[in-house]
Amino acid sequence: MKTVNDCNFENKRALIRVDFNVPLNEYFEVTDKTRIEAAKPTIIKILEDGGSCVLMSHLGRPNGVEEKYSLKHIVSAVSDVIGVRVKFASDCVGEETKKMADNLQPGEILLLENLRFYKEEKEGDIHFAKKLSELGAVYVNDAFGTAHRAHASTTVIAQFFPNEKCAGFLLASEVENINKVLYNSTPPVVAIIGGAKVSSKITVINNILDKVDHLIIGGGMAFTFIKALGGTIGSSLVEEDKLKLALEILAQAKAKNTQIHLPVDAVIADAFREEAQTQTASINAIPEGWMGLDVGPETNQIFKKVILKSKTILWNGPVGVFEMQKFATGTIALGNAIAEATVNGAFSLVGGGDSVAAVKKFGFTNKVSYVSTGGGAMLELLEGKVLPGIKALEE
Ligand code: AMP
Repeated sequence: MKTVNDCNFENKRALIRVDFNVPLNEYFEVTDKTRIEAAKPTIIKILEDGGSCVLMSHLGRPNGVEEKYSLKHIVSAVSDVIGVRVKFASDCVGEETKKMADNLQPGEILLLENLRFYKEEKEGDIHFAKKLSELGAVYVNDAFGTAHRAHASTTVIAQFFPNEKCAGFLLASEVENINKVLYNSTPPVVAIIGGAKVSSKITVINNILDKVDHLIIGGGMAFTFIKALGGTIGSSLVEEDKLKLALEILAQAKAKNTQIHLPVDAVIADAFREEAQTQTASINAIPEGWMGLDVGPETNQIFKKVILKSKTILWNGPVGVFEMQKFATGTIALGNAIAEATVNGAFSLVGGGDSVAAVKKFGFTNKVSYVSTGGGAMLELLEGKVLPGIKALEE
């Protein structure tokens, strides 16, 4: 895949698909600029080459044109982060916008209005994609978070730039870091898969089983495995229709020589509430009326040992209900173990919506090697899928 490093943008206008789907408060101020900062290196490289940038993004899930989802709200935040006064086009296509793009001088940036004001964006409409393509000479995709969608601006548009298309730094580094874990890893490799349900992680587990030496399973999904193995799990989360599947995964792991580590104890509660009564119990002897909401102290020690002897670590999904302080201990212990392994030289990658939230909440962002920004896109790469946005750049 070509990246911006393989191109020179002197006197060229780059049309960049960015992911500026940022959170806004009630005053329409950007409350987290992470996504804008993530696109900055690509934009700066193009400007420093002597090029100009047309930026296009979606924001939220508008139903037609909805003022509250206008990208005009983020113009000053983008200007602040990039350090250049950004111009704004109040439509993402049309004559006026085309004129603004054509008049752009080297060093200048034009931000387009929300792509999703047009239903054609999500439909992957080729005519809409063609209109967008007329706004730049080189197409750059730096929106990893939407690379798994075959939308007009993320995928369909690429065909109008047969030779002039490439990945931005963010997209390229996301792919590189995930590939480092999946195809280019230093053993021993451990994957920690947590979260609520087996069903949402089954494809990931299937794809990584023969790529990892150890698989740690935590969170709500562990109880489906424990029950399948004959344990008593009280009223813990369980997917009754996945019990057979759980046994199949365990058998496959054995056949592939992948060691599975399930929790041996749990912090159990008499209600799904912060104020609930709690105690520690053996994972397969949870009394009636009690539910496991975090892994227990013995499990923390076992998981830590596995993590500390690993050289490559993938973490997706919390091992407990970390949103409630009482049940966050296991997830924090896990983060600490990964941080320690990273200091000792392991490569650690964290990704997927809730693990990123946990990493942010407990201050682990700078203590792991890489935090993936694209929840769905990252999961699909871990599932072994080819992302349409990436394929379109390679064709
Ligand atoms: P996921 O989106 O599948 O990664 O699931 C993340 C969610 O799983 C978080 O909101 C956690 O609160 C939840 N979770 C983790 N452990 C448990 C558990 N033992 N019981 C119920 N929910 C859990």
